Amino acid sequence: MAYRKIRIVKGDITKIKADAIVNAANSSLLGGGGVDGAIHRAGGPDILNDCRAIVARQGGCKTGNAVITTAGRLPAKHVIHTVGPVWNGGDKNEVTLLANCYRHSLELASRHHLATIAFPNISTGIYHFPKELAASIAMNTIVTYLEEHSDIEEVILVCYDDENLRYTEQYYNQHI
Ligand code: ADP
Repeated sequence: MAYRKIRIVKGDITKIKADAIVNAANSSLLGGGGVDGAIHRAGGPDILNDCRAIVARQGGCKTGNAVITTAGRLPAKHVIHTVGPVWNGGDKNEVTLLANCYRHSLELASRHHLATIAFPNISTGIYHFPKELAASIAMNTIVTYLEEHSDIEEVILVCYDDENLRYTEQYYNQHI
């Protein structure tokens, strides 16, 4: 049952011990504010070194795509960096691009045989994606993936603020 593999928690994703935590990165992959800054600060320079190597190889990361690095000093084993869309009113393909972030991150986890993965509320900070809509996209994309792939054992949604926690729990309780 896909829904049994989903856990919603309130807290700081840098403290989560999972095979992978997901970073809401920007396309430069070279660090930023919000959760991105917190992950690089807590994980140390090894994460940025891996990011630089990826940039040298492929020149950054497009919106909706994902790449994987070490987690440095974090309790997690890997960081999956995905680039969420900036909210621009909703007619710039934002919904599809946000769903792509979740799906591509899960696909990368599967490809690397990672069983547990933790997500922040991608795009809902500096990128201003509406939180209620983002919660529904996150949940539906994760549930669809889990229904189609049995390798992922647990997906943790790590909500940092009360509003995201409320919308995420509400959507889960009403629709999943
Ligand atoms: P984006 O640019 O994708 O909007 P942000 O980092 O600004 O990325 O925000 C994404 C979400 O991450 C926001 O909901 C914010 O509350 C949350 N966030 C910030 N710091 C942390 C953290 N340490 N752990 C988990 N989530 C966090």
